[in-house]
Amino acid sequence: MMTTTIPKACLNEIQKIQRAFIWEDANGNKKYHAMGWVIRSGEDALWIEVMKGKYDRENTNFEHVVAKAQDSTLWKSLVHTWHYFDGYEFWNIGKGNLVRAWTDNETSIEAMGIMVPESMQYLMVKDLVDDNGCWNFDLLRTWLPHNIISKMYALLPPQNDGDTDRRVCSGTDNGQFSIASAYKLVCNFSDNSREMEWLRIWKLKVPERITSFIWLVRHDRLLTNYRKSKMHIGEPWCTHCVDIVEDTLHVLRDCPLAKSVWCNLLNNAARENSFAAELKDWIHMNLQQDLGRNMHMEWYGVWATSCHSLWTWRNRETHDETRLRPIHPWRYILDCHLQYMAANVNNIALSTRQQMEVDIAWQQPEAGWVVLNTDGASKMDVAAGCGGLLRNSHGQWIGGFSRHLGICSAYLAELWGVLDGLRLARERGITKLKVQVDSRVVVQTLNSSNIGSTVGSMEIYSIDSSAVSIGLGD
Ligand SMILES: [Zn+2]
Repeated sequence: MMTTTIPKACLNEIQKIQRAFIWEDANGNKKYHAMGWVIRSGEDALWIEVMKGKYDRENTNFEHVVAKAQDSTLWKSLVHTWHYFDGYEFWNIGKGNLVRAWTDNETSIEAMGIMVPESMQYLMVKDLVDDNGCWNFDLLRTWLPHNIISKMYALLPPQNDGDTDRRVCSGTDNGQFSIASAYKLVCNFSDNSREMEWLRIWKLKVPERITSFIWLVRHDRLLTNYRKSKMHIGEPWCTHCVDIVEDTLHVLRDCPLAKSVWCNLLNNAARENSFAAELKDWIHMNLQQDLGRNMHMEWYGVWATSCHSLWTWRNRETHDETRLRPIHPWRYILDCHLQYMAANVNNIALSTRQQMEVDIAWQQPEAGWVVLNTDGASKMDVAAGCGGLLRNSHGQWIGGFSRHLGICSAYLAELWGVLDGLRLARERGITKLKVQVDSRVVVQTLNSSNIGSTVGSMEIYSIDSSAVSIGLGD
C-alpha cells in the first residue's frame, strides 16, 4: 500500500472550508451566530445533539451547565451568558408533554409558598387534563388557592393534536428570539430613565424647531466656537467673555448673558445644583424636575424656550453686531412661551374630535354564508367570560355558546370568544364563515403575523385565522 503526506497547502484549504462552514453565512460573509437561544429553546439540530453529547455531562437537558478549563471558548461563552435569560423565557404549551407542571416555569409554584402534594410533584402539564381535554380541576381544587384556579380557567389546556412545546422569548412581538431584544432585556434598557429622556424631549410642549434644537443640544452638536475650533475654524473663545472657551454649557448657561436669564427664572433652591451640573445631567434635571419660580407654566417648556432664545440671540449678534437683546430677556422668553401655550390650547380645542353616534346593526352576509358574532368581557380581579352566536344569512339562529373564564383580561376574553366560536362552527360543519368581533386590537392581531403580546399567544396559535375572514362587527 502506498501512503503519502497531504500537502500543507491542501490541509490549510480544508481547514478554511471548515471555518467557513461554521462562521460564514450562505453568501460567504462572516457573521455572528445566535447559538445561545437555539440551544435553550430545545430545537432539533445536529449541532445541538453534538453539544449535548459533549457538554451535557449529567444528562439533564442543559438544566445545569458547567464549563471546565479544557472546554471550548464557545461553550465557556454560552455558560457565561446562560443565566442572563432565566427570567425572560417561558413555555408555549402545545401538547404539554415536555414541560413539568410545577417546576419548569420562571416562577415555580413552590416559590409562591404553595406545597405540591407528593403524588403530583412530577406531573407534566398534559397530566393535568381530563379525558375530555379540559383542566382536571378535581385534581387541583383541594390544594391550589382559588385565585390560581380562577386564572387557569382562561388558560388553554394542552391538546393532543397541538404543536410541540417550545420555549419562547419575551421582548419581541412574535416570541422569536432576537439579539436586539435580548440585549435590551438583559441590560434593562426599557426601564432606563435616560431612554425615557428622549421621549420627554419629543413630547415637550414647544414649537417643533425648539424640540429639534433641544435634541441637538442633547447630542452636544451645537456649532459653538469650541466645536468650530476643533474643525480648525476660528478661535474657541466666547465673543462676550473673550478669554473663556465657548462650549454648549457656556453659551446656554454659564456665560453672564445666560446667567442673568436663569437667575430670573430658576427658583432659589434649584440654583446651586443647576449651575454645578455637567451638560447631560443639566438637561436631565431640567426635563425631570420643576426648577422654575412659581410662574404657572410647565418648567420644561420654559427651559427649552430659554435655551433656544439664548442660542438665537448669540447667533444674531455674531452675524450682526448692531443687534441688541431684549431689555428683559427672561420676560421676553416667558411671553413667547405663554403665547405658544395659548395658541396651543386653542388648537387643541379646535382639533378635539366630536363624539359621533353610530347606529349599530347586525351585518347581513351574502347568501350561503354564516356569521359568527363573538364578545368577551372582563371585570378586573372579579370575573371574565365570553360568548357568541352563529346565524345564517337570513339572521336565523344556528348555535350559541358562553364560557366562564375566571380571572383574565378583556383582550384574552375576546380571544376565547373567537376560539370557542370557531370550534362551534367546525362542529356544525360550517365551511363559509365570517367572524365579527367588537375589538379592533383582536382583529388586528388575528389578521397580522405578529402575536403582538405574549399574553394570549397560545390562544392565537390555536386560531387558524388564515381560514376565515375576521372583521370588526357590532
Ligand atoms: Zn461668555
